Amino acid sequence: MGAPRGRATPAGARIPPVPLLARSLRVPIAVAAVLAACAALAPAADRTLLSIGAHAGDAEITTGALLARHKRLGDRVVMLHLTLGEGGNPKLSPAAYGEQKKREALAAAQALGAEALFGPWKDGDLRDTGEAARFVADVIRQVKPTHVITHWRTSLHPDHEAAHRIVNAAVLLASLEGFESAHPRHRGLRGVYYADNWEDAEGFVPYLYVDVTEDLAAWKAAVSSYEFIRGGISSFPYLEYYEALARVRGALAGRRFAVALEVDPFAKKRVLEALP
Ligand SMILES: [Zn+2]
Repeated sequence: MGAPRGRATPAGARIPPVPLLARSLRVPIAVAAVLAACAALAPAADRTLLSIGAHAGDAEITTGALLARHKRLGDRVVMLHLTLGEGGNPKLSPAAYGEQKKREALAAAQALGAEALFGPWKDGDLRDTGEAARFVADVIRQVKPTHVITHWRTSLHPDHEAAHRIVNAAVLLASLEGFESAHPRHRGLRGVYYADNWEDAEGFVPYLYVDVTEDLAAWKAAVSSYEFIRGGISSFPYLEYYEALARVRGALAGRRFAVALEVDPFAKKRVLEALP
């Protein structure tokens, strides 16, 4: 979500931008992430989930139930909102709506038991640049996630597609000794996952289904911190859509409610000693 374009005072970044390197680093999107999809459930507090959305609200509406579940399991959950999505309210200036979105994002994070971080970019103006990748790489080095979740590669919204490319570039950068920042490289990432977002539906095929039956109420309460999700700003019925989607994914998974995730094609490769 978020407006296709918008101008406003940039959101205050809670993590200072990383210094620009003297030379531009262009990195391939593909990363050597290892999917631990079929591993046994890891012990509590063994995981740190970092959910990165283009606009405040993206991470919560698509992955909030999953984050609530993992918080309940004892894991650390963090959200990074690259922009506030402040351009989407026809009744408020982007500056005023940005302030509101930031308050709503902090309330949603508190309800989920998550930490909230904010990028410095403007709604509609997120670009796949080296600077953006270095910023996110530095966040990854500080948060040290075991799991990163972000937007699928195709989207109706250019900010979402930019976020996908930025995050994949950042995942690689964060692991490289050659990327200099104030924090040491992070090599503990087990996988990159893509969220089930109505705007990112083209080519999205659910691959992993996680049971969130016991977490849907917590998700609903948390996302209701956002006015645009409660209704009245956008004509899109966010709450109804995502609750129904969780039921549909749950039905396909043989559960009551589930959150589905996609992964990169190379992450679907499984090597076995024999058929299970
Ligand atoms: Zn969005």
